[in-house]
Amino acid sequence: MAEEAMKNNDSSVQDEWGQICSQLKMEFGETAFDSWLKPLSVGTYNNGVMNICVPTAFMKNWVLTHYSDRIHKIWEHKNPSVKKINFVVQTNHSSDSSLLKKISSTPTPQNIYMPNFNAASSFNDFASKDSFMQLSAPLNPAYTFDSFVVGKTNEFACAAAKKVAESRNVSFNPLFLYSGVGLGKTHLMHAIAWHIKQQDPSRNVIYLSAEQFLFKFVKALRYKDTAAFKEQFRAVDVLMVDDVQFMSNKESTQEEFFYTFNSLIEEGRQIIISADKSPTDLEGIESRLKSRLSGGLVADIHPTDFDLRMGILNYKAQQMGITLPEKVAEFLAQKITTNIRELEGSLRRIVAHTQLLSKNEITLDMTQDILKDMLRSIDRKTTIDEIQKKVAEYFNISVKELQSSRRARTVARPRQIAMYLAKQLTSRSLPEIGRKFDRDHTTVMHAVRKVEGLIGEDASLAESVNILRRALEN
Ligand code: ADP
Ligand code: MG
Repeated sequence: MAEEAMKNNDSSVQDEWGQICSQLKMEFGETAFDSWLKPLSVGTYNNGVMNICVPTAFMKNWVLTHYSDRIHKIWEHKNPSVKKINFVVQTNHSSDSSLLKKISSTPTPQNIYMPNFNAASSFNDFASKDSFMQLSAPLNPAYTFDSFVVGKTNEFACAAAKKVAESRNVSFNPLFLYSGVGLGKTHLMHAIAWHIKQQDPSRNVIYLSAEQFLFKFVKALRYKDTAAFKEQFRAVDVLMVDDVQFMSNKESTQEEFFYTFNSLIEEGRQIIISADKSPTDLEGIESRLKSRLSGGLVADIHPTDFDLRMGILNYKAQQMGITLPEKVAEFLAQKITTNIRELEGSLRRIVAHTQLLSKNEITLDMTQDILKDMLRSIDRKTTIDEIQKKVAEYFNISVKELQSSRRARTVARPRQIAMYLAKQLTSRSLPEIGRKFDRDHTTVMHAVRKVEGLIGEDASLAESVNILRRALEN
């Protein structure tokens, strides 16, 4: 029996495979054939089961989903005794000298992006000089856990990031971080990478933006090297892809990413993803990818609250070696609420002015003067009337109810949120805001504090505030 199988394998099966390959090449084109099918080879054939050797798990996944049905059909047609096709990952076969086989039989480098090729070829040049060397985008040395200020709005995301950075075993996969712009996603991802590299330099951590992933993939397509592109991810222990929303409506990139993602997860590698929305809210992303993205831990960073903004201002001022008077910090923390990048930017602007004009202290007047344009545009954007209208609409109540003295939770909470947003998005004073709600300034102050507190505790409230803020800022 075994002997017959061998004999079969050596002669007719090889012939059949040769013919099938010609047909596949015709059907799928030379590029796809060279990338995915040429590296395959027939293995043993037993009891109607044909084993086909694939050099890597990546390729196996791809071939299974794209070509296996077709291969089976053609083969069955040629030889009805072939009942099943089995793809087996076999890294060390020596049949021909296809480049992929060379890669897969090269020992996997631990923390080097460039495998040790011997043969010179155009592929080698492409792979070694470009993609392997630069697979990971550079990490910003300033983005570490030490420099990440933690507050109520980002503590969950930060704790999740630390957990991933500290544990060798994958605890949740993928970790999906999302938030609006400038709230610390990239900072946290770099911090994870630095931490892992510090703990164990041999671990291969790759960080890249979705745009870079896309760019490299398109480049690989142009060089007809999609298989090589895929191979790059084989030695990855931790893969981070930032801003995946950039993949929306780019189907082939998503598909590529989907397979890369699945193979790595199957092999127990850690994946960390960021986006500007939760996986379910991402638009233009295939639903199977969305569901994979939500399969691990989803952690969002909420818009900042006053305390975090104060914390960040004080920390950054200290890092810059300047004294930031409390009043100025409070003023900035009250006005610049959009995101941390803008907060940092405004602080830098003030410091630059102070130094240029050789002033030895920062005053409130000066700050207001320097940030005039910025503040004016913030003020121009939103009015309290607009806020009341949007909030009432969102919570399905009337503006009259919002301004009324009713204390029912269904009205009181939206009212507090409206007051909070009025404080955050306009430059109106507390008494001015109070008048619009027929209340005094202490009620407004209480509402602002209350909502700030709730944002850290109640995710759905935080989400509502977030949605309203974005709607009002546009
Ligand atoms: P995102 O990727 O969410 O758009 P970034 O990570 O680029 O945001 O953050 C924008 C800027 O704000 C960066 O300079 C970053 O260092 C800073 N930043 C964000 N969150 C924090 C934080 N919690 N503590 C200190 N700096 C922060
Ligand atoms: Mg970012």
